[in-house]
Amino acid sequence: RKYVYDFAEGNRAMADLLGGKGANLAEMTVMGLPVPPGFTITTEACRAYLATGAPPQGLAEEVGEHLHALERAMGRKLGQVDEPLLVSVRSGARFSMPGMMDTVLDIGLTDESVAGLAAWSGDERLAWDSYRRLVQMFGTTVLGVEPGHFSDALRAAKLAKGVTGDLELDAADLRALTTTFKNIVREHAGREFPQDPREQLDLAIRSVFESWNTERAHVYRRAEHIPEDLGTAVNVCAMVFGNLGDDSGTGVAFTRDPATGAPGVYGDYLADAQGEDVVAGIRNTLPLHRLAELQPRPYEQLMAIMRTLEEHYRDLCDIEFTIERGKLWMLQTRVGKRTAAAAFRIAEALREEGVIDADEALRRVTGAQLAQLMFPRFADTATRPVATGVAASPGAAVGEVVFDSATAVRRAEAGAAVILVRKETNPDDLDGLIHARGVLTSRGGKTSHAAVVARGLGRTCVCGAESLNVDAANRRFTTADGTVVAEGDVISIDGTAGEVYLGRLAVVPSPVVDYFEGRRPPGRDALLQAVDRIITHADARRRLEVRANADTSDDTRRARRLGATGVGLCRTEHMFLGDRRVLVERLILAETDAERESALAALLPLQREDFVRILEEMDGLPVTIRLLDPPLHEFLPDRTALTAQVAVAQALGRPDAPETLLRAVDRLHEQNPMLGTRGVRLGLVVPGLYEMQVRAIAEAAAIRVRAGGTPRVEIMIPLVGDVRELDIMAGRARRILDAITAETQFPYEIGTMIELPRAALTAGRIAGSAEFFSFGTNDLTQTVWGFSRDDVEATVFPAYITEGIFAVSPFETIDRDGVGKLIADAVEAGRAARPDLVLGVCGEHGGDPASIGFFHDVGLDYVSCSPFRVPVARLEAGRAAV
Ligand code: ADP
Ligand code: MG
Ligand code: MG
Repeated sequence: RKYVYDFAEGNRAMADLLGGKGANLAEMTVMGLPVPPGFTITTEACRAYLATGAPPQGLAEEVGEHLHALERAMGRKLGQVDEPLLVSVRSGARFSMPGMMDTVLDIGLTDESVAGLAAWSGDERLAWDSYRRLVQMFGTTVLGVEPGHFSDALRAAKLAKGVTGDLELDAADLRALTTTFKNIVREHAGREFPQDPREQLDLAIRSVFESWNTERAHVYRRAEHIPEDLGTAVNVCAMVFGNLGDDSGTGVAFTRDPATGAPGVYGDYLADAQGEDVVAGIRNTLPLHRLAELQPRPYEQLMAIMRTLEEHYRDLCDIEFTIERGKLWMLQTRVGKRTAAAAFRIAEALREEGVIDADEALRRVTGAQLAQLMFPRFADTATRPVATGVAASPGAAVGEVVFDSATAVRRAEAGAAVILVRKETNPDDLDGLIHARGVLTSRGGKTSHAAVVARGLGRTCVCGAESLNVDAANRRFTTADGTVVAEGDVISIDGTAGEVYLGRLAVVPSPVVDYFEGRRPPGRDALLQAVDRIITHADARRRLEVRANADTSDDTRRARRLGATGVGLCRTEHMFLGDRRVLVERLILAETDAERESALAALLPLQREDFVRILEEMDGLPVTIRLLDPPLHEFLPDRTALTAQVAVAQALGRPDAPETLLRAVDRLHEQNPMLGTRGVRLGLVVPGLYEMQVRAIAEAAAIRVRAGGTPRVEIMIPLVGDVRELDIMAGRARRILDAITAETQFPYEIGTMIELPRAALTAGRIAGSAEFFSFGTNDLTQTVWGFSRDDVEATVFPAYITEGIFAVSPFETIDRDGVGKLIADAVEAGRAARPDLVLGVCGEHGGDPASIGFFHDVGLDYVSCSPFRVPVARLEAGRAAV
């Protein structure tokens, strides 16, 4: 077992074993870049430690050997009294992970070696400042002392001296402070600050191992879907000093702008400082190009190294560096994080430069990033936010503030745009969330109730804006600077950036959407050019077709502009609402065949007209029309609201209608409508209903043919569980279609949704009677899990996500193991029975970037999603194919 690797022994492919930081330090070392010498303790050692609570056999010896090698290389010994060697101990897991142990710098300083550091650096203040920082950092992160004890003592020291800044404390002050800090350690950790450098090192290593299991680390891993069992590596690295005067300093840099993707290096530099000072923000940093004047030689070297790194990694790199008395040292590099816009621009730029090919450029961007670019944004970037929080659900929402669900509903129904503001939300707020444009909370993170529900509903959400004081009882909230925002005041929230603004900001549509909808050519806009090139390549590569879920001709037109090649789901229930409700009531209340037939006859021309327009918009491409699915009672008035129906009843010429209606409501009432008279059951129970719909579709198609069009009709029968249900309905439909096509020819297909487990399990038999399957993954997920979506998403899921039962709602991303398994089996059985069976998916998963790869893998022919998601699906379908 080898637990320790010298930086010169590893490489970037070893990130599982050496962690990201260690693997890249090794890569840079092997590339011959100036990295301070050091070694990495493997994640395997960490896993062994966490399993047993003790360092694995042989680890201590191995660390000793590598430490000796390091000491030989440096010509100094750890913590030796004159010219001491000091090291940093740095955590570094496979995935970059805030929440784990902070880096401890200057390990090796002791009461004795501090004088050696002073002599070597010629700077006594520096030596004592380093030592007191070590005691402080070691005390808190390794020995678990409350940080407040140290910061209180620091404050007291400044107060006693009558100064305000840390920099005003001199060497003697810092020396006294170090003694105070050591006393704090003794009192609160129950032990002395270790004076043996090797003991310091060993304790720091252990504490990095243990930091894998801190609460913050768990929370982060859950949020980012990082496995719990990876463990972290530990990097031990010889210290270099950026705080030895004006010819020293430290900085961070990117090989391109990570915000926009624009070419050209980008970074910050701080002279006479150590790494932690840059992030602490105590002093103002300089833009990187200023380093060219300050330190031309190291600057040139840094530029050359950055070019080398970008060529080597073939991607945007970010780096951390330090300059010690004019000598440049590389302390870290990795492939840098970037915004969605930068991801597209960088991928396309690298392709254009010939660094990567078009397939690789496509792999470098994601559907989720494209979706982000498609949300509307605030026009004005000059206004300062009054608060920031977690960017929990993207978008830009403007509205008047409300503090409770009931007010949200009331104001929304009166036509107002509202933003629901709460400390945190709970299931009682669901109605308010549905009616709000956005939700803002002062507590909770990405998996809080508000965040989960808002994402599910597609509402903009900023949560955990902790600087806001929300006082729901008095219907107001207060910002950090004391501004009071009362109910009814307008605010603007940016769920993409996690920002809150006072007043009404102008919202602009996304230029990317304008591009997709053909309103704006890419022109010279670098982002649009990149999106254009990459989506074009995705279209060329993808095997999956992308259709849209569209119920109206407007949606259909939009979907086609956005690149849909068909309608995968046209729901007909919307066609029964509004003015037509009265006709539906007549249908439901019909007591004789004649009454029913007359109600159906009145609905027929209205439906037909709807279909004509949709078929016209999608002319030449398939349109899958689903026959009526929801339970009938949804079309009747609420039982308690029935009294208000008297007028309607009289208009129908039935003075007794309220009672009739009431009886109908009672008769149709179902304990569990989701599992009640829905879908094909409705078609079988209500005579003539499905037949009317089929006739409307067929007549619409005939009208389109006579008008010179090319309708391609697919009739979809929902909620089938057994092939006989399908056979009966399909038989009736064919009789109608055959009669009409005898006069006017047009192609049609009859198929079914696979949305019940029994349908999936008997897919082979069903395929004998269906020309296509469309997986209705919303209902399939409900019925496979036994989750009633409307009930559990707000109540059960936040807890399930926190408990790690699933990382993301199965209604958002397909549950591969359960629902996905059924789909895969049904695909196989269906194709075996009918090789030319057309297979698609029309649940919301069809537009989910994380699910589309799965649908490609199981061999579907198309995904269908909301029009807005069509470009995202095209991109992901392309990525799945390369
Ligand atoms: P993080 O994972 O938070 O970036 P690092 O291990 O990179 O933590 O350490 C943070 C900073 O500490 C580095 O950017 C660097 O400035 C400083 N640092 C770490 N190791 C050394 C070292 N051996 N010499 C000088 N500075 C160091
Ligand atoms: Mg770092
Ligand atoms: Mg369904």
